[in-house]
Amino acid sequence: MEKRRKAVETMRQHVVDRSGNPTPTPSATAYESRSVAVPFGNCTEPSNVKAGGSRCPIRFQFSGCAFYRPDPSFLPAVEDHIRALKADREMALALGTAQFVVRNLSDQIDSLHGVVTSLRQQIELMPDDDRRHLEDVSAVLRKVRAAAPTPVLPVSSIPARRSTDE
Ligand code: SF4
Repeated sequence: MEKRRKAVETMRQHVVDRSGNPTPTPSATAYESRSVAVPFGNCTEPSNVKAGGSRCPIRFQFSGCAFYRPDPSFLPAVEDHIRALKADREMALALGTAQFVVRNLSDQIDSLHGVVTSLRQQIELMPDDDRRHLEDVSAVLRKVRAAAPTPVLPVSSIPARRSTDE
């Protein structure tokens, strides 16, 4: 708990918004009580925080959300998500999917790239000791989140098509 408290105290100062603008959380208490960890960052939308992260009002569209608050501890998850979005875009293009779907994927990729670039620049400018400390506390927070998994993205279950022979 002590390690976690110290990690939050450091990390709250490195939070950004969906555009990558520094948006430090005013206190460690606010980081813990007014936000909830969701797949690619923290969420500050009050009703979703109250629901423990399972009631996103806009279907987890983080990159366009005013309540999205990523920090360096989420970098690997955001980068993984960018890779997944790129794969989805390739598939959409290969399938001749409507342009608005492809555009939406591209816009999400560009927006999350902005978040990653901003976080990486922030880290590069830090003195070596501070950078190492930030990497350590990022690992602590990832471990804490792994022990209490974040909600999975909602995927509706679609009934399998029945064979015409049946
Ligand atoms: S998209 Fe949903 S879960 Fe993500 S930050 Fe916005 S309100 Fe929260």
